[in-house]
Amino acid sequence: MLDFNRDAPQRNQVSREKIPESTVRAIRGRIDLLEFVGRDVKLKKNGVNYEGCCPFHYEKTASFKIKSGEQYFKCFGCGVGGDVVEYIIKSRGVDFVEAVQILAPMAGIDLDNPRAPLPPILAPLPPKESKPDWEPISPVPVDAPEPDFAHSRFGAPSMVWPYHNAQGCLLGFARRFEKPGGGKDIIPLTYCRHPEKGQEWRAKQFQAPRPIYGLDRLAEQPEAPVIIVEGEKACDAAQTLLQGYVCISWPGGGKAVHLADWSVLSGRHVIIIPDADDQGMKTATAIMEVLS
Ligand SMILES: [Zn+2]
Repeated sequence: MLDFNRDAPQRNQVSREKIPESTVRAIRGRIDLLEFVGRDVKLKKNGVNYEGCCPFHYEKTASFKIKSGEQYFKCFGCGVGGDVVEYIIKSRGVDFVEAVQILAPMAGIDLDNPRAPLPPILAPLPPKESKPDWEPISPVPVDAPEPDFAHSRFGAPSMVWPYHNAQGCLLGFARRFEKPGGGKDIIPLTYCRHPEKGQEWRAKQFQAPRPIYGLDRLAEQPEAPVIIVEGEKACDAAQTLLQGYVCISWPGGGKAVHLADWSVLSGRHVIIIPDADDQGMKTATAIMEVLS
């Protein structure tokens, strides 16, 4: 159904050859990999390493490591490794040039003028005290109170999609809000626990690896071919049109492909229907890489 044409013309004006190695070195030296990766992966210090569950393959024990003071990551489960540029390429589904374009401004580097003197590196922030945080309870306890779907800023949602596990138990929700100036925002709602503050519904994303949307349907039809589409709305629409298939999606859209638990598709016949644009194709490619 898909033609993943990897030879499509590059949209970038800058070619890889135009980016000097010194620029990549400067990016590597000026962006703290640990802090950067820490936004996606919960890292715990263990001896000289920081360890967490790999964002690039499904696992329950941490084999993804960053050595303290070094600017390289390595997963001893799936073998993926590299620097911050490689991390962006793999986690965001972009190419080398795009990764450099994303990172250069963060590192204070002007790509149009790479020889310009670099501003001083800001002193690194002191390591954060790991404060207790809200953590989603999964599945939602049966005696949890009814959720209030409204958002303090956006009001009532225009749509709400429940996530269930294979047994049909509620895991949480995705909510769609229409923004006043046009556009939309998809905000999760999960039932969370806090070690000091108790339990309540919070606008907090599922913990990674995040559940697929449609786990209950997948379990109900174990032989049916699976169709992956982006977004819960498109998924529901596809499901009503495509009898005999199980349609699924995942939380967080194109930037969060690597955070979903795709292991549930093991052994299933899978068809990906991408959004009809460049970003949609990139997302589809990222899913293919996770599944392969
Ligand atoms: Zn891995």
